[in-house]
Amino acid sequence: MLTLRRLAVIPTLRCTLRCRLCCNSVPLYVDPPFLPEREVASDIHAAFSLVDRIEWIQLVGGEIFLYPKLAYLIDAIREHRAQFDRLILMTNGTLLPPPGVLDALVALGPDCEVQISDYGPLSRRVRELEMLLAAHGIPSQTKVFYGDMQHYGGWVDNTSYDDRHWSNEQIEDIFGNCWQIKMRNYHMYQGKLHACIRSLFGLDLGKIPVPPEEYVDVRDLSQSREEKRAALARLADRPLTACRYCGGFDTLRAERFPAAEQLP
Ligand code: SF4
Ligand code: SF4
Repeated sequence: MLTLRRLAVIPTLRCTLRCRLCCNSVPLYVDPPFLPEREVASDIHAAFSLVDRIEWIQLVGGEIFLYPKLAYLIDAIREHRAQFDRLILMTNGTLLPPPGVLDALVALGPDCEVQISDYGPLSRRVRELEMLLAAHGIPSQTKVFYGDMQHYGGWVDNTSYDDRHWSNEQIEDIFGNCWQIKMRNYHMYQGKLHACIRSLFGLDLGKIPVPPEEYVDVRDLSQSREEKRAALARLADRPLTACRYCGGFDTLRAERFPAAEQLP
């Protein structure tokens, strides 16, 4: 059995906010596209064909409610209903869902959840969104990221892609204490599936020389299903090239900063 605990699929990096500490490197992208919905759906189908189960399949951005064809992706995920436990949408509370999304979530039933990050005055639509979801019987959860009671105590600053020149022992230490790895959070953008978000964006932005064996390209026709499954099963087993370019995601020791501070 090959089970992914979490898989975050990213159909766009466009966002309504520009957070200084964005862990998806959104401020580093200039005018990122909406990936074509058929392409993203095809990547989703390919991911489900590789694994036996995905506990939580997540649609994230950027701001996911900017993506105009979101309902199409939810319907595509619903085709794999027997293979996942829950669908999660993550939003920053600045927008209401685009057309068709509420109906698509209702069609999915109770095993979905909209997770709303509440950044205070920035997240202008939170209450309205909560009421809209409740009126349709769609589960939601709001996490507060402002004031003195910030979820997780605030954010970690892991924005730099500089080579830290860590020793092998230091790399083993940051990898061994990495929240991304402990939580088994996988991410997919443009068909490339990584065990670490920094590996994904470090490669995509041309900042980290991530070798092909450290991710799985679900679109790669030169590899068999079995080869991709074997690669996927090993992705989070050992330190990644990206760890050399990372301050670590150590939830116990890392300094915390206020969430969602905006860049100009
Ligand atoms: S809301 Fe902020 S943290 Fe979230 S994706 Fe947008 S810029 Fe990044
Ligand atoms: S680069 Fe390494 S230490 Fe940093 S978040 Fe990824 S797996 Fe964790």
